[in-house]
This record gives sequence, structure tokens and C-alpha cells, in this order.
Amino acid sequence: MGTIQLSGIGRSFKSTAAVRDIDLTIADGEFVVLLGPSGCGKTTLLRMIAGLLEPTTGRILLDGADITELPSKKRDLAMVFQSYALYPHLSVRKNLAFPLKVQRLGKEEIQRRVQDVADSLEIGHLLDRKPKELSGGQRQRVAVGRALVRNPKAFLMDEPLSNLDAKLRTQTRHELTALHRSLNATFVYVTHDQVEAMTMATKIVVLNAGAIEQYGTPEEVYDRPESVFVAGFLGSPAMNLLDAQVIGREGIVSLSGKGLAGDLWPGDTGDLDVVVGVRPEHLEIAALSDKRDGILLDGTVEIVENLGGEQILTFATGPSRIHMRTSRDVHLSVGEQLTLRAAAEHVHLFERA
Ligand code: ADP
Ligand code: MG
Repeated sequence: MGTIQLSGIGRSFKSTAAVRDIDLTIADGEFVVLLGPSGCGKTTLLRMIAGLLEPTTGRILLDGADITELPSKKRDLAMVFQSYALYPHLSVRKNLAFPLKVQRLGKEEIQRRVQDVADSLEIGHLLDRKPKELSGGQRQRVAVGRALVRNPKAFLMDEPLSNLDAKLRTQTRHELTALHRSLNATFVYVTHDQVEAMTMATKIVVLNAGAIEQYGTPEEVYDRPESVFVAGFLGSPAMNLLDAQVIGREGIVSLSGKGLAGDLWPGDTGDLDVVVGVRPEHLEIAALSDKRDGILLDGTVEIVENLGGEQILTFATGPSRIHMRTSRDVHLSVGEQLTLRAAAEHVHLFERA
């Protein structure tokens, strides 16, 4: 079991609040990714869960027991650091055995568990090497192995893939997902990389300036972002966001006086400043005959980026730049003017603060 509950957790450094009043329940077996830009408080939050940093406010529960005051090594949680933090003078075998020696397990038990973990991570042939004789990916696996060998209630990881090259990162991502499936353990994983979050998480916590913006499955935060911040953070390129006005009773949205949309706004709210959001993959070239509800945007092609299988088109529309993701069957060149359309079901509307 590994259910982690945070209630009112906050941490300040001098007068700056790094984490503010966070309430969060991480259910047993979940792969929760803490996602957000650099400096938003991810590491601070993870270190408080790990017991490496004292919260200024709030309580932390593990399987219902209050562990707020419990020292790190008594928490039954394993942390995997970005820098791997392996002992350079010890062999892989001894690195893996170390946490078990600390727990004073018997020699045979230690040997057996080290071998099991080495087999499951396919590092059995590396056991007698020193960390400096390993590649980045192998070191990373040993670091995971050292967490695994303790059989903890939860794994805490802080950007464990950020030192790996792109190919190895993808491969290790798949391995971590498989590891999570096979262990059925709780993972709390920090990253600023939305692809890691989308592909590995069962739940994503989007953090902004020390507070939770949204907590949900990858599909929920991607398909139904609850704020402009979340909408703009996920997706590559991110969601197009344009200032607009809702015009009174008609429920009509006016985009800088240009594209007019049909029934997009629920009910009579009066005039309202909004932000219209459309994902690049939901824009299409408008056909004159198409009278369905949606938004229309006049634009001029500025950049065509060929990604191999598909392309990203950048349009100038009024003072804004918008991105469209399409197959390469759409042939457009720089300077062409045309009208783009997004169907109503793909238009997001956010109230502007
Ligand atoms: P992230 O991991 O999301 O990049 P951090 O949790 O490391 O963010 O930092 C959150 C904020 O807290 C940042 O503004 C950072 O400068 C500040 N901070 C983190 N650790 C310390 C510290 N030990 N002393 C002072 N400020 C800190
Ligand atoms: Mg960090």
C-alpha cells in the first residue's frame, strides 16, 4: 500500500512561498506526475514528501499515518535523484545492497534481492562494475534498482531522465511505465516535460507558482484544461490562445472583430472578455460551403515546418501568431492567405481575468 495524502502543505524560504497550501491525495498504485515550469515548486513538494525538507504548514499522511515529523529514512519511501547519487567507489552490487545493509538484512537475503532486482532491470552483467564504467542509461537503471531493492511503499523521482539523450529517454520512459505496471506501486514523478507527463502518468498535477492548477488524468488535463495556464502549458506547439469578446445575449464570440462564431457560449452572460483556445491539430482550412458552428480565422502563412510525417504551419492572424498541425498532404506556401476553421466542439473558452 502507498496512499499519500497532503493537507494544507506549504513551504516558504525566507519570505518567498515556494509551495502554497496544497491539498492532494495520491491513491495507492497511481503514477502521479508533478508537472510545471521551472521554479513552480515541484522539487520542494517532492522533498517534503520524502522527508528531506520540513513543511512550513500542513500534514503528510502515508497510508493514513501522519509522517510529517518522521525522518526521511523511516518513511518507507524511495527517492531516485536526477544526479543518480550512486556511491562512486562502490560496485553496482554494493550500491544496490547498501540500502539493505542499512536495514540490517541477512547476507543471503541481500544477495537474493540484489539479484532479483538486477534481473528485472537487466543489469545482472554490470554488478561488478563501478558507476564510472557505466553509460548514463545504465547508471540511471542502477539508481532505480537501488530504490527498487528496498521494496518501498512509493517511489519518488525528480526528473530522472533529464540527463539522458533523446533516444534513451524514450526507451527509459517505456521501461518506467512497464516497471510501474509490474510493481503496481505508487510513483510520484517530477518533470517539466509534458511528453513524459502525458505518456507515463495515470494522473497529472499541473503546478503553477506553488499551487495546483489542475489535477486529473492526462486526457482530462489535455482535453479539458480548466485554465489558460494549463491550456498553454500542454501540447507542442501549445494551444493557440486568442483574446476575444462574448457579445451579450447572442452567445456570439468575436475574435478581435474578425472571425465570428456561432453558438459557443452557454446562455446569457452579458458582454464578457474571454480567451479562445484551439489546439493546432483542430484547425483546418475552411470550406465556403461549411456552415457548421465554429470559429473562423483569416491568416497568412508565415512559416512551414516539415516534421517528416506531418507539418506545423504558423499563420499571422491580426497581431497574433497561430499554429496548425496537419498532414503533409496539405500543400501551402509562405505568403498564402486563407481562412482557417475550428469546429465548435474543439473550441475552448476561458474567462479572462
Ligand atoms: P522546481 O523544482 O519546480 O523547478 P523548486 O521547488 O526547486 O522548483 O523551487 C521553487 C521555488 O523555491 C523557486 O523559486 C526556488 O528558487 C525556491 N527555492 C527552492 N529551494 C530553495 C532554497 N533551499 N532556498 C531558497 N529558495 C529555494
Ligand atoms: Mg526541480
